Amino acid sequence: MRDQFGRSIEYLRISVTDRCNFRCIYCMPERGISWLPKPQILSYEEIVEVVRQLAPLGLRRLRITGGEPTVRPGLAGLIRQLRAVPAIEDIALSTNGVKLPQMAEELRAAGLDRVNMSSDSLRPTRIAEIARRDLSFDPVVAATAATAAGLDPVKINVVVIRGANEDEVEDFAALTVDRPWHVRFIELMPVGDLAGTEFSRVVPSAEVLARIAARFGPLEHAEGPVRGNGPATYQRIAGAAGSIGVITPLTHTYCDSCNRVRLTADGRLRTCLYGDHEVNLREPLRAGVPLAPLFAEALANKPREHELLKLRVGGLKALSEIGG
Ligand code: SAM
Ligand code: SF4
Repeated sequence: MRDQFGRSIEYLRISVTDRCNFRCIYCMPERGISWLPKPQILSYEEIVEVVRQLAPLGLRRLRITGGEPTVRPGLAGLIRQLRAVPAIEDIALSTNGVKLPQMAEELRAAGLDRVNMSSDSLRPTRIAEIARRDLSFDPVVAATAATAAGLDPVKINVVVIRGANEDEVEDFAALTVDRPWHVRFIELMPVGDLAGTEFSRVVPSAEVLARIAARFGPLEHAEGPVRGNGPATYQRIAGAAGSIGVITPLTHTYCDSCNRVRLTADGRLRTCLYGDHEVNLREPLRAGVPLAPLFAEALANKPREHELLKLRVGGLKALSEIGG
Protein backbone atom coordinates (compact mmCIF):
# COMPACT_ATOMS: atom_id res chain seq x y z
CA MET A 1 0.00 0.00 0.00
CA ARG A 2 1.54 3.29 -1.07
CA ASP A 3 0.04 6.74 -0.79
CA GLN A 4 0.18 9.50 -3.40
CA PHE A 5 3.68 10.48 -2.22
CA GLY A 6 5.05 6.93 -2.37
CA ARG A 7 5.02 6.36 1.39
CA SER A 8 4.44 2.74 2.31
CA ILE A 9 1.48 2.38 4.69
CA GLU A 10 1.56 -0.76 6.79
CA TYR A 11 0.64 0.46 10.26
CA LEU A 12 -2.88 1.03 11.63
CA ARG A 13 -3.62 2.66 14.97
CA ILE A 14 -6.99 1.48 16.22
CA SER A 15 -8.87 3.49 18.83
CA VAL A 16 -11.21 1.08 20.63
CA THR A 17 -12.93 3.65 22.86
CA ASP A 18 -13.21 7.39 23.40
CA ARG A 19 -13.58 6.87 27.17
CA CYS A 20 -10.88 7.13 29.79
CA ASN A 21 -10.29 6.80 33.53
CA PHE A 22 -8.02 9.90 33.41
CA ARG A 23 -8.66 13.46 32.25
CA CYS A 24 -5.14 14.56 31.36
CA ILE A 25 -4.94 18.34 31.17
CA TYR A 26 -3.56 18.30 27.60
CA CYS A 27 -5.96 15.68 26.31
CA MET A 28 -9.49 15.71 27.72
CA PRO A 29 -11.64 18.41 29.25
CA GLU A 30 -12.34 18.01 32.97
CA ARG A 31 -16.08 17.66 32.43
CA GLY A 32 -18.80 18.10 29.84
CA ILE A 33 -17.54 15.37 27.55
CA SER A 34 -20.23 13.64 25.53
CA TRP A 35 -19.19 10.04 24.94
CA LEU A 36 -19.99 8.30 21.70
CA PRO A 37 -23.23 6.32 21.97
CA LYS A 38 -22.53 2.59 21.97
CA PRO A 39 -24.19 1.81 18.60
CA GLN A 40 -21.78 4.24 16.93
CA ILE A 41 -18.72 2.43 18.26
CA LEU A 42 -17.29 -0.37 16.15
CA SER A 43 -17.77 -3.75 17.77
CA TYR A 44 -14.68 -5.90 18.22
CA GLU A 45 -15.93 -8.11 15.39
CA GLU A 46 -16.17 -5.05 13.12
CA ILE A 47 -12.64 -3.94 14.04
CA VAL A 48 -11.32 -7.42 13.22
CA GLU A 49 -13.17 -7.32 9.88
CA VAL A 50 -11.52 -3.99 8.98
CA VAL A 51 -8.12 -5.52 9.73
CA ARG A 52 -8.93 -8.67 7.74
CA GLN A 53 -9.87 -6.57 4.71
CA LEU A 54 -6.81 -4.30 4.94
CA ALA A 55 -4.29 -7.08 5.61
CA PRO A 56 -4.17 -8.25 1.95
CA LEU A 57 -3.35 -4.65 0.98
CA GLY A 58 -0.16 -4.71 3.08
CA LEU A 59 -1.25 -3.99 6.65
CA ARG A 60 1.28 -5.60 9.02
CA ARG A 61 1.34 -3.75 12.32
CA LEU A 62 -1.36 -2.65 14.72
CA ARG A 63 -1.53 -0.42 17.75
CA ILE A 64 -4.53 -0.52 20.07
CA THR A 65 -5.22 2.86 21.62
CA GLY A 66 -8.07 5.10 22.79
CA GLY A 67 -9.19 6.95 24.94
CA GLU A 68 -7.94 4.39 27.37
CA PRO A 69 -8.22 0.97 25.70
CA THR A 70 -8.04 -0.99 28.95
CA VAL A 71 -11.37 0.46 30.14
CA ARG A 72 -13.25 -1.31 27.33
CA PRO A 73 -14.24 -4.76 28.56
CA GLY A 74 -12.91 -7.81 26.75
CA LEU A 75 -9.76 -6.22 25.33
CA ALA A 76 -7.78 -9.47 25.55
CA GLY A 77 -10.42 -11.15 23.37
CA LEU A 78 -9.93 -8.50 20.66
CA ILE A 79 -6.18 -8.99 20.76
CA ARG A 80 -6.62 -12.75 20.44
CA GLN A 81 -8.76 -12.29 17.31
CA LEU A 82 -6.35 -9.79 15.76
CA ARG A 83 -3.45 -12.14 16.47
CA ALA A 84 -5.24 -14.79 14.41
CA VAL A 85 -5.16 -12.61 11.24
CA PRO A 86 -2.21 -14.24 9.43
CA ALA A 87 -0.54 -11.14 7.93
CA ILE A 88 -0.38 -9.26 11.21
CA GLU A 89 3.18 -9.35 12.52
CA ASP A 90 3.05 -6.99 15.46
CA ILE A 91 0.42 -5.81 17.95
CA ALA A 92 1.18 -2.97 20.35
CA LEU A 93 -0.89 -1.22 23.03
CA SER A 94 -0.92 2.43 24.15
CA THR A 95 -2.19 2.78 27.71
CA ASN A 96 -2.02 5.07 30.69
CA GLY A 97 -0.86 2.00 32.60
CA VAL A 98 -3.41 2.16 35.43
CA LYS A 99 -4.70 -1.34 34.71
CA LEU A 100 -1.42 -2.89 33.58
CA PRO A 101 -0.55 -4.55 36.89
CA GLN A 102 -3.80 -6.59 36.67
CA MET A 103 -3.94 -7.02 32.89
CA ALA A 104 -0.37 -7.36 31.56
CA GLU A 105 -0.20 -11.16 31.77
CA GLU A 106 -3.63 -11.72 30.24
CA LEU A 107 -2.87 -9.34 27.37
CA ARG A 108 0.50 -10.96 26.72
CA ALA A 109 -1.10 -14.41 26.72
CA ALA A 110 -3.67 -13.15 24.18
CA GLY A 111 -0.87 -12.17 21.80
CA LEU A 112 0.05 -8.59 22.64
CA ASP A 113 3.69 -7.97 21.73
CA ARG A 114 4.56 -4.68 23.35
CA VAL A 115 3.32 -1.67 25.22
CA ASN A 116 3.68 2.10 25.31
CA MET A 117 2.74 3.46 28.69
CA SER A 118 2.06 7.16 29.22
CA SER A 119 3.20 8.76 32.43
CA ASP A 120 4.00 12.38 33.02
CA SER A 121 5.21 12.22 36.61
CA LEU A 122 6.68 9.80 39.14
CA ARG A 123 5.15 11.72 42.06
CA PRO A 124 1.68 10.60 43.18
CA THR A 125 0.24 14.04 43.88
CA ARG A 126 1.49 15.40 40.60
CA ILE A 127 0.16 12.43 38.63
CA ALA A 128 -3.25 13.15 40.15
CA GLU A 129 -2.96 16.84 39.21
CA ILE A 130 -1.97 16.25 35.58
CA ALA A 131 -4.41 13.35 35.11
CA ARG A 132 -7.10 15.12 37.20
CA ARG A 133 -7.91 11.76 38.79
CA ASP A 134 -6.29 10.15 41.82
CA LEU A 135 -6.17 6.41 41.12
CA SER A 136 -3.08 5.67 43.26
CA PHE A 137 -1.21 4.89 40.10
CA ASP A 138 2.47 4.00 40.31
CA PRO A 139 4.09 4.04 36.85
CA VAL A 140 7.17 2.10 37.95
CA VAL A 141 4.99 -0.74 39.30
CA ALA A 142 2.99 -0.78 36.05
CA ALA A 143 6.05 -0.83 33.77
CA THR A 144 7.63 -3.53 35.93
CA ALA A 145 4.48 -5.65 35.53
CA ALA A 146 4.65 -5.20 31.76
CA THR A 147 8.29 -6.29 31.62
CA ALA A 148 7.61 -9.25 33.93
CA ALA A 149 4.75 -10.38 31.66
CA GLY A 150 7.15 -10.51 28.71
CA LEU A 151 5.94 -7.41 26.86
CA ASP A 152 8.92 -6.10 24.95
CA PRO A 153 9.82 -3.37 24.37
CA VAL A 154 8.24 -1.34 27.17
CA LYS A 155 8.22 2.35 26.27
CA ILE A 156 7.26 5.11 28.65
CA ASN A 157 5.89 8.28 27.05
CA VAL A 158 6.29 11.53 28.98
CA VAL A 159 4.60 14.69 27.71
CA VAL A 160 6.81 17.52 28.95
CA ILE A 161 4.82 20.58 30.02
CA ARG A 162 6.45 23.86 30.99
CA GLY A 163 5.75 24.64 34.64
CA ALA A 164 4.20 21.22 35.35
CA ASN A 165 6.78 18.41 35.08
CA GLU A 166 9.92 19.60 33.32
CA ASP A 167 11.81 19.21 36.61
CA GLU A 168 11.28 15.41 36.43
CA VAL A 169 13.07 14.88 33.14
CA GLU A 170 16.20 13.67 34.95
CA ASP A 171 14.20 11.28 37.20
CA PHE A 172 12.58 9.67 34.17
CA ALA A 173 15.94 9.42 32.41
CA ALA A 174 17.38 7.72 35.51
CA LEU A 175 14.82 4.88 35.11
CA THR A 176 16.67 3.75 31.97
CA VAL A 177 20.01 3.20 33.70
CA ASP A 178 19.19 -0.21 35.22
CA ARG A 179 15.96 -1.13 33.42
CA PRO A 180 15.47 -2.05 29.76
CA TRP A 181 12.84 0.66 29.29
CA HIS A 182 12.68 3.25 26.57
CA VAL A 183 11.62 6.60 27.96
CA ARG A 184 10.35 8.97 25.28
CA PHE A 185 9.84 12.65 25.89
CA ILE A 186 7.04 14.11 23.77
CA GLU A 187 6.66 17.74 22.88
CA LEU A 188 3.29 18.98 24.02
CA MET A 189 0.85 19.62 21.21
CA PRO A 190 -1.37 22.59 21.98
CA VAL A 191 -4.80 21.13 21.31
CA GLY A 192 -7.86 20.73 23.55
CA ASP A 193 -7.84 22.72 26.80
CA LEU A 194 -4.31 23.94 26.09
CA ALA A 195 -5.12 25.26 22.62
CA GLY A 196 -5.29 28.84 23.88
CA THR A 197 -1.82 28.65 25.43
CA GLU A 198 -0.37 28.21 21.96
CA PHE A 199 3.24 27.19 22.37
CA SER A 200 4.13 28.77 25.71
CA ARG A 201 4.01 25.45 27.62
CA VAL A 202 5.97 23.47 25.07
CA VAL A 203 9.42 22.37 26.22
CA PRO A 204 11.57 21.80 23.11
CA SER A 205 13.25 18.41 22.97
CA ALA A 206 16.68 20.01 22.66
CA GLU A 207 16.16 21.47 26.12
CA VAL A 208 15.10 18.08 27.51
CA LEU A 209 18.22 16.40 26.12
CA ALA A 210 20.45 19.20 27.45
CA ARG A 211 19.02 18.70 30.97
CA ILE A 212 19.75 14.97 30.80
CA ALA A 213 23.29 15.48 29.48
CA ALA A 214 23.98 18.04 32.22
CA ARG A 215 23.08 15.43 34.87
CA PHE A 216 24.35 12.17 33.31
CA GLY A 217 27.07 13.29 30.88
CA PRO A 218 27.06 13.17 27.08
CA LEU A 219 24.45 10.83 25.63
CA GLU A 220 25.44 8.00 23.29
CA HIS A 221 23.67 7.20 20.06
CA ALA A 222 21.30 4.25 20.58
CA GLU A 223 19.52 2.10 18.03
CA GLY A 224 16.38 2.19 20.15
CA PRO A 225 13.92 -0.66 20.42
CA VAL A 226 14.18 -3.16 17.60
CA ARG A 227 10.47 -3.13 17.03
CA GLY A 228 9.48 0.48 16.60
CA ASN A 229 7.27 2.06 13.97
CA GLY A 230 7.40 5.58 14.99
CA PRO A 231 8.98 8.96 14.84
CA ALA A 232 11.23 8.84 17.91
CA THR A 233 15.01 9.15 17.71
CA TYR A 234 16.96 7.44 20.49
CA GLN A 235 20.03 8.07 22.65
CA ARG A 236 21.39 6.47 25.78
CA ILE A 237 23.07 7.40 29.03
CA ALA A 238 26.54 5.80 28.83
CA GLY A 239 26.23 2.11 29.74
CA ALA A 240 22.46 2.27 30.39
CA ALA A 241 20.17 -0.74 29.93
CA GLY A 242 17.41 1.29 28.29
CA SER A 243 17.28 4.33 26.04
CA ILE A 244 15.93 7.83 25.83
CA GLY A 245 13.90 9.06 22.88
CA VAL A 246 12.39 12.33 21.83
CA ILE A 247 9.29 12.86 19.74
CA THR A 248 9.28 16.29 18.20
CA PRO A 249 6.08 17.02 16.32
CA LEU A 250 6.63 20.74 16.67
CA THR A 251 10.33 21.40 16.23
CA HIS A 252 10.77 18.76 13.52
CA THR A 253 8.14 17.18 11.36
CA TYR A 254 8.54 13.55 10.41
CA CYS A 255 5.76 13.44 7.84
CA ASP A 256 8.16 12.32 5.06
CA SER A 257 8.43 8.87 6.60
CA CYS A 258 4.85 8.61 7.93
CA ASN A 259 3.78 4.96 7.61
CA ARG A 260 0.45 5.07 9.42
CA VAL A 261 -3.26 5.65 9.30
CA ARG A 262 -5.76 5.73 12.15
CA LEU A 263 -9.15 4.17 12.81
CA THR A 264 -11.35 6.07 15.26
CA ALA A 265 -13.61 4.29 17.74
CA ASP A 266 -16.62 5.18 15.56
CA GLY A 267 -15.06 3.84 12.40
CA ARG A 268 -13.52 6.83 10.64
CA LEU A 269 -10.26 6.19 8.85
CA ARG A 270 -7.98 9.20 9.37
CA THR A 271 -4.90 9.53 7.24
CA CYS A 272 -3.28 12.36 9.22
CA LEU A 273 -3.27 13.01 12.94
CA TYR A 274 -4.30 16.62 12.36
CA GLY A 275 -6.69 18.13 9.87
CA ASP A 276 -9.87 16.66 8.54
CA HIS A 277 -8.69 13.97 6.17
CA GLU A 278 -10.96 11.03 6.89
CA VAL A 279 -13.25 8.45 5.31
CA ASN A 280 -16.17 6.84 7.13
CA LEU A 281 -15.76 3.06 7.06
CA ARG A 282 -18.52 2.18 9.51
CA GLU A 283 -21.57 2.49 7.27
CA PRO A 284 -19.98 0.71 4.28
CA LEU A 285 -18.72 -2.00 6.63
CA ARG A 286 -22.18 -2.49 8.12
CA ALA A 287 -23.68 -2.53 4.60
CA GLY A 288 -21.23 -5.20 3.47
CA VAL A 289 -19.46 -2.88 0.99
CA PRO A 290 -15.80 -3.88 0.34
CA LEU A 291 -13.39 -1.52 2.07
CA ALA A 292 -10.38 -1.73 -0.27
CA PRO A 293 -11.56 1.00 -2.72
CA LEU A 294 -12.37 3.32 0.20
CA PHE A 295 -8.95 2.70 1.61
CA ALA A 296 -7.33 3.50 -1.73
CA GLU A 297 -9.33 6.72 -1.88
CA ALA A 298 -8.21 7.67 1.64
CA LEU A 299 -4.55 7.07 0.79
CA ALA A 300 -4.87 9.10 -2.39
CA ASN A 301 -5.86 12.04 -0.21
CA LYS A 302 -3.32 11.56 2.61
CA PRO A 303 -1.70 14.98 2.95
CA ARG A 304 2.04 15.44 2.52
CA GLU A 305 2.44 16.88 6.03
CA HIS A 306 0.44 18.16 8.98
CA GLU A 307 -0.19 21.84 9.53
CA LEU A 308 0.25 22.00 13.28
CA LEU A 309 2.91 24.68 12.99
CA LYS A 310 0.33 26.86 11.32
CA LEU A 311 -1.98 26.05 14.23
CA ARG A 312 -4.33 24.31 11.87
CA VAL A 313 -5.52 21.20 13.62
CA GLY A 314 -8.78 20.77 11.80
CA GLY A 315 -11.73 19.87 13.97
CA LEU A 316 -9.55 18.00 16.44
CA LYS A 317 -10.52 18.79 20.01
CA ALA A 318 -8.40 16.21 21.79
CA LEU A 319 -6.04 13.40 20.89
CA SER A 320 -8.29 11.06 22.87
CA GLU A 321 -10.67 11.24 19.90
CA ILE A 322 -8.20 9.47 17.69
CA GLY A 323 -5.73 7.80 20.01
CA GLY A 324 -2.71 10.04 19.54
N1 SAM B 1 -4.82 6.55 27.03
C1 SAM B 1 -3.67 6.05 26.36
C2 SAM B 1 -2.42 6.78 26.84
O1 SAM B 1 -2.55 7.77 27.56
O2 SAM B 1 -1.33 6.35 26.46
C3 SAM B 1 -3.74 6.09 24.86
C4 SAM B 1 -4.34 7.31 24.21
S1 SAM B 1 -3.43 8.82 24.45
C5 SAM B 1 -4.44 9.97 23.54
C6 SAM B 1 -2.02 8.56 23.40
C7 SAM B 1 -0.85 9.47 23.65
O3 SAM B 1 -1.17 10.79 23.26
C8 SAM B 1 -0.38 9.55 25.09
O4 SAM B 1 1.01 9.21 25.16
C9 SAM B 1 -0.59 10.98 25.46
O5 SAM B 1 0.37 11.42 26.38
C10 SAM B 1 -0.49 11.66 24.12
N2 SAM B 1 -1.12 12.96 24.08
C11 SAM B 1 -2.42 13.26 24.31
N3 SAM B 1 -2.64 14.59 24.18
C12 SAM B 1 -1.43 15.14 23.87
C13 SAM B 1 -1.00 16.47 23.61
N4 SAM B 1 -1.83 17.52 23.65
N5 SAM B 1 0.31 16.67 23.30
C14 SAM B 1 1.17 15.62 23.26
N6 SAM B 1 0.83 14.35 23.49
C15 SAM B 1 -0.47 14.11 23.79
FE1 SF4 C 1 -6.81 9.38 28.89
FE2 SF4 C 1 -4.56 8.88 27.55
FE3 SF4 C 1 -5.93 11.16 27.13
FE4 SF4 C 1 -4.70 10.85 29.43
S1 SF4 C 1 -3.71 10.95 27.40
S2 SF4 C 1 -6.82 11.58 29.17
S3 SF4 C 1 -4.86 8.70 29.76
S4 SF4 C 1 -6.61 9.13 26.67
